[in-house]
Amino acid sequence: MATILSDRLGGTIPSTMSDLPLSIRSIFEHAMKSHPRKQIISRDGAQLLRFTYAEFGKRVGKLANALKKLGVKPGDRVASFAWNGHRHLELYYAVPMIGAVLHTVNIRLFPDQIAFVLDHAEDDIVFYDGSLVKLVKAAHALAPGSGRRFVQMGASPEPFEGALDYETLVADEPETYDWPEIDERAGAILCYTSATTGDPKGTLFSHRSTFIHALASGLADSLGMMESDRVLPIVPMFHVNAWGTPFLCLLVGADFIMPMERLDPAGVIELCESEKVTLSAGVPTVWLAVRDALRAQNKTLPHLKRLVIGGSAMPKSLMDDLNALGIDAIHAWGMTEMSPIGTVSHNISELANDPAKQHEERYKQGRFCPIVQWRLVDESGHDVPPDGRSRGELLVRGFAVTAKYYKNEEATATAFEPDGWFHTGDVCTVDEYGYLEIVDRVKDFIKSGGEWISSVEVENILMGHPSLKEACVFGIPHPKWQERPVAAVVAREGHEVDEDAVRAWMADKLAKWQTPDRVLFVDAIPRTGVGKFLKRDLRETYKGLFEE
Ligand code: AMP
Repeated sequence: MATILSDRLGGTIPSTMSDLPLSIRSIFEHAMKSHPRKQIISRDGAQLLRFTYAEFGKRVGKLANALKKLGVKPGDRVASFAWNGHRHLELYYAVPMIGAVLHTVNIRLFPDQIAFVLDHAEDDIVFYDGSLVKLVKAAHALAPGSGRRFVQMGASPEPFEGALDYETLVADEPETYDWPEIDERAGAILCYTSATTGDPKGTLFSHRSTFIHALASGLADSLGMMESDRVLPIVPMFHVNAWGTPFLCLLVGADFIMPMERLDPAGVIELCESEKVTLSAGVPTVWLAVRDALRAQNKTLPHLKRLVIGGSAMPKSLMDDLNALGIDAIHAWGMTEMSPIGTVSHNISELANDPAKQHEERYKQGRFCPIVQWRLVDESGHDVPPDGRSRGELLVRGFAVTAKYYKNEEATATAFEPDGWFHTGDVCTVDEYGYLEIVDRVKDFIKSGGEWISSVEVENILMGHPSLKEACVFGIPHPKWQERPVAAVVAREGHEVDEDAVRAWMADKLAKWQTPDRVLFVDAIPRTGVGKFLKRDLRETYKGLFEE
């Protein structure tokens, strides 16, 4: 390590500072020493289990010993196939702390995609939640692998022959482990993107990037997490490490509450109430449903102060409704490739005297995290000004941003510039106050008669309609205009609404050419593995809509 640093120093003189590696172990050891009585709470079937950090630490030690006994060596890949639960959290620490890599498989991928990622990652062992046994078996049948082993966590509805049992494995193991010192650049956690196009692509986070991301995402103008917080990550631990919360929580000593599969509004509300949750995070869909349930029951969640919402655009109406319930809805943007946090939307002192402007700004995806460097470029790669109007593709690089895809040179060559800038595929504006606004994904823009229509902008207007629960806007080939926008909408339960009413709603909010040619009422909008609209499927289903 020291040699590499001094090589880079050139004519400067070496500092006196320690080169101690940034590591997941340092987060763990700090948590054990400074916050031993803080809590890890997890649903487990019908029960709610409670562990102190100290008890959790002993289970992590036992698991590390069991992994060693199973023959897991530094660099080996160990897969998890699990909800947010305490055993998953134990894997989050034990696997990287013995030098191996935890591959957090997205359980919502299709079985062939799951088979693909297990093979691509060359996972030796798969730890799965018993409730997910059917999915694991289906994926395994497609990718039998060479001697891959399975460990079941908790009860399952049907047996999986040959699978080992987690609790039996760890039962008699020692509670301590002689943790090795690991190079901070070593791989720790492997995540694949949710694949709206092509095969999933892997990002392998290092100990260093995980540590830096935890520090930066804890800043007051990021997630602003404190020791006194009680945190409920609704975002799954198989989606970019639940946005880093399993590491940030232990770093600051917050209580960490895991919902397992209960992501339904009743389950979320119940945990928020019984556990006095102060901070939560997740994609808009979950919170739209929670908002509706709170309204229907005429309830508030008095303990819940902050809600970080990202993964796809938070509808303006959702932010306003949550604010009205006394919850600070904080918009954030990020990507798997960025660990994931990129921007977070908070108030700034410059706008303290202009609350209306500040409110408008808060709808946007937010201001950049200091560990992210960014550029906005036009189609020929020239920088466009951050004036709030000029649109460009956002390029990023940074201390917790990947510089390539895992074992995928082709995808790397397409998405990364030779000097490391990563093409996010998001078309954005950045304004004079530094707020980023995502206009659309490059591939979701609708090209109509030489003009570009932002699907996100139209969706935002539709989502504000009081009788619409969801709206998804996409382009369909058109003989005259090249493409025309079409909206698929889902009506709220118990609401009567038709195409004319939706058209009337859009009439004074959108120019005629931006207004969808068709409004289709559907029961549900297809989604990706992490709950984002799957526009590719809708484009395919309705591709012939405008054929003559
Ligand atoms: P993933 O890697 O699955 O988290 O997906 C990253 C992509 O999700 C980004 O490139 C954006 O297109 C989209 N995304 C994430 N957060 C937001 C947000 N707050 N608003 C709009 N799009 C978002």
